[in-house]
Formats: sequence, structure tokens, C-alpha cells
Amino acid sequence: MALDTAWVTAWINRSTEVISENRVALITLDRDIGDGDHGENMDRGFQAVSTKLDTLSPDATPGDALKLVATTLISTVGGAAGPLYGTAYLKAAAAVGSAPELDGAAIVALLTAARDGIVLRGKAESGDKTMVDAWTPAVEAAEIAQQAGSSEVEILAAAADAAEAGAVATEPLVARKGRASYLGERAIGHRDPGAQSSALLLRAAADTAAGE
Ligand code: ADP
Ligand code: MG
Repeated sequence: MALDTAWVTAWINRSTEVISENRVALITLDRDIGDGDHGENMDRGFQAVSTKLDTLSPDATPGDALKLVATTLISTVGGAAGPLYGTAYLKAAAAVGSAPELDGAAIVALLTAARDGIVLRGKAESGDKTMVDAWTPAVEAAEIAQQAGSSEVEILAAAADAAEAGAVATEPLVARKGRASYLGERAIGHRDPGAQSSALLLRAAADTAAGE
């Protein structure tokens, strides 16, 4: 589908479904190396976002939709993830400006701004076992795909693949940010819940763009 406001809405509604389906899995991951609330926080936040998106004005741009997602997540998710994801969607909204439809360069700009927002807010570096470990490979893969002349759908699929691999690659790491950092070596062998939820959100973006 064209990457317009209807796509952003479809992406976010798919995110809500996928987060709801993975609520228990995310709770389990966060119970292993955190406080067990990540699935609950994300599910509550995205349910609120989907309700809010129904009130979006018909002439809203993709940026307007992303901004509504941001403000709703900030006020409903809580924990570490709420402000981090809120900042991600807010920066993504700013990056796409008032464009009615997003091309490959705009998608790369959206993903880069989201990742930069998370880094700005949380100060995590690659390898700290956080959601940044899903986002940075996703941004890099999207850039490579875009430079190779790939379609928007292919760019998003490359980002989603890289985010999933990045989430898996958090398993052997020791955490240096967030609650999991209190565990030291006991975090080894567990996947970071925020990296996992990030991979789910990026897969939802790719699947809806592909019309799946
Ligand atoms: P809390 O840790 O407050 O319970 P959540 O469980 O909702 O919040 O989210 C935890 C996730 O947030 C972690 O799995 C990690 O991916 C992410 N996170 C925590 N701190 C940071 C940070 N400083 N930078 C980036 N991501 C972080
Ligand atoms: Mg938690």
C-alpha cells in the first residue's frame, strides 16, 4: 500500500494486535531480567493509541498520526519504555514533516529519527542490551536497502529482519542500562524485552506496507 496516513493507521493498529498477542511473552521476558511489566505497559499503551487513532481527522498527515501515537504512549505506557517509545514516535513525526506520503528516503529518516530519539532519551549505546540493539541494526539495514534502490516495502522488510536479529543478539549480553543492569551476569541468556517489542513494531510496519 502507499505509505500514507492510512498506512500509519494500519501499522499502528497491527502493532496493537501484535503487542496484545505477545503480551504474555513480553511479560515473561521482562520477568526474567526486569520487573515483568513490559507486556502490560505496552498492551495498555497501544490499546489507548488505537482508540485515539479513531478520532484522527480525515486530513491528518502521517506526521500528525505519529504525533498522536507519541503523546498517547507517553501518557499511558509508563516505566522506561513509555518515554522512550514516546520520544521515538515524536521524533519520527518531526522527521516526516507534513508529507502526505512517505518514500524510501522518508522511511529511512523516520526510522533514524526514532532511533536517535531513543538514544537521546535513554543514553544507551549499542551492545547495552536495550531496544537500541534492535533499532540501530534496523536503521543501518534500511539505509543500505534504500541506497541499493529497494522499494519502500523492501526497506521496511530489511529493517524488520535486522531488528529481529538484533533482538535475538541481545541474549548473550550483560545489560548496562535499565533494570536488567542490576542483574549483572545473570542477565546473560535472556532476550531484552524492549528489543523484542521493537522488533514486533517494525515487523508490523513491514507487513502492513506489504499489504499483509
Ligand atoms: P521498566 O524497566 O521501567 O519496567 P519496561 O519494562 O516497560 O520499563 O521497559 C524495559 C525496556 O526498556 C528494556 O527491555 C529496554 O529495552 C528498555 N530500556 C530501559 N532503559 C533503557 C535505556 N536507558 N535506553 C534504551 N532502552 C532502555
Ligand atoms: Mg519492566
